[in-house]
Amino acid sequence: MLAQETLALLSKLGVDAAALSGGDLAVHSPVTGEQIVALKTISPADAGKAIDAAHEAFKAWRLVPGPKRGELVRLLGEELRAHKAELGRLVSIEVGKIPSEGLGEVQEMIDICDFAVGLSRQLYGLTIATERPGHRMMETWHPLGVVGVISAFNFPVAVWSWNAALALVCGDSVVWKPSEKTPLTALACEAIFARAVARFGKDAPANLLTVLVGDRAVGEVLVDHPKVALVSATGSTRMGREVGPRLARRFARAVLELGGNNAGIVCPSADLDMALRAIAFGAMGTAGQRCTTLRRLFVHDSVYDQLVPRLKKAYQSVSVGNPLESSALVGPLIDKAAFDNMQKALSDARAHGGKVTGGERFENGHKDAYYVHPALVEMPKQEGPVTEETFAPILYVMKYSDFDAVLDNHNAVGAGLSSSIFTRDLQESERFLSADGSDCGIANVNIGTSGAEIGGAFGGEKETGGGRESGSDAWKAYMRRATNTINYSRELPLAQGVSFDI
Ligand code: NAD
Repeated sequence: MLAQETLALLSKLGVDAAALSGGDLAVHSPVTGEQIVALKTISPADAGKAIDAAHEAFKAWRLVPGPKRGELVRLLGEELRAHKAELGRLVSIEVGKIPSEGLGEVQEMIDICDFAVGLSRQLYGLTIATERPGHRMMETWHPLGVVGVISAFNFPVAVWSWNAALALVCGDSVVWKPSEKTPLTALACEAIFARAVARFGKDAPANLLTVLVGDRAVGEVLVDHPKVALVSATGSTRMGREVGPRLARRFARAVLELGGNNAGIVCPSADLDMALRAIAFGAMGTAGQRCTTLRRLFVHDSVYDQLVPRLKKAYQSVSVGNPLESSALVGPLIDKAAFDNMQKALSDARAHGGKVTGGERFENGHKDAYYVHPALVEMPKQEGPVTEETFAPILYVMKYSDFDAVLDNHNAVGAGLSSSIFTRDLQESERFLSADGSDCGIANVNIGTSGAEIGGAFGGEKETGGGRESGSDAWKAYMRRATNTINYSRELPLAQGVSFDI
């Protein structure tokens, strides 16, 4: 059933049916666990050739003026608007997101296209004061090269668009290795992009976007290929530990967007109704499978007994189920491995004195689909599984009494992606955002850890990898900067007063 619907959606979006059968990569929907198609994967040798072709595309594309490149991204945004419903539905089928989150992911793609179109006329460099008379100094931003995108299963299309929309206006070509768990939405994006290219006309070279279907071996080709100037890799910290040093070895640029272990702090003055809603969405939304999912919660002991029982009630009553056939708020985990990891973390938590509410599997009529009740675990302290990211809906709740100590605890984990504080106390809020507050790339006040907008730079510190993509000046990673000094005088004064008369 789901297979038929998926094939019909893919065909409507323009994906070539020949690509969808007779392959070696089985693609399943987590909604029912059923296999949808078996895709052909690309061999490492062919992946290398595809990258060479993408480099040729780059050489032509870099000569197209920025605002014109922006026009292609504008058309991409239009095509995404026109196909939002189908692509959103595909995201729900392939990842198990509830419909509003599937559609929200496509909206995020549209938003970044809009952002990038504006950016295409704002790739500014500075004019810089020079110490030498009759000279002018400036910086210019040039296209960088082939941009490799490696993406994770949980945002199968938005992460590509964050990278691709910027890379394209910056004059780069894009080679994308989607997660092997979610290649169908990638093929759909490739087809949507092809529509934009067809409308754009002949100035778009062939192979401006290439999708490489395959597993990590194909990702490794992208990482090691000398013609890939930048790899933007989104996934686990484990993946980043492998990819980062390999890129460093050949001095390629890396944008690493890795795991998170995000925390919230609920202070004595917090608006508890607001905090409750934000915590529920942050911790249970997307079945706990966002990099920004709320995983640790520190609650001041003066409000613990007011908040935590309400939170437990929300956990017990939240609807879990088939996101395509019900209005459930929590869909399935991606696969059995995710379920096993969750159960292992919960038994570790119990061994460390944790009191677990929820976490059981929810039988939903499909033996290969993994639905779980989100788990809330009251922990005596931050240790064991609390310090690691488990990519499932587990929220560890801990009591605190001292603000300095809770800030220390907040920062005492490897990851540094997102964070939030719930308070109406200005001093606490400002402290949290200050140099000795949250050490994360994202720090929020009175909103949850997840659900970032595209206008800000997105990414995190420490084991999250340090990369930034999406808004603000993240575009600079996709271009190379040249500093130019022009002498329009008849003299040749040297900088720093050096004399060298011959
Ligand atoms: P994963 O690390 O298993 O896989 C991510 C991608 O990396 C896949 O495309 C995979 O094929 C590829 N890959 C794996 N090893 C590789 C290697 N050695 N060389 C090249 N490519 C390799 O991650 P996942 O399970 O798909 O996604 C979940 C993880 O992603 C979580 O840890 C989550 O926090 C993280 N994530 C981070 C962000 C962010 O922006 N920081 C966003 C989404 C997800």
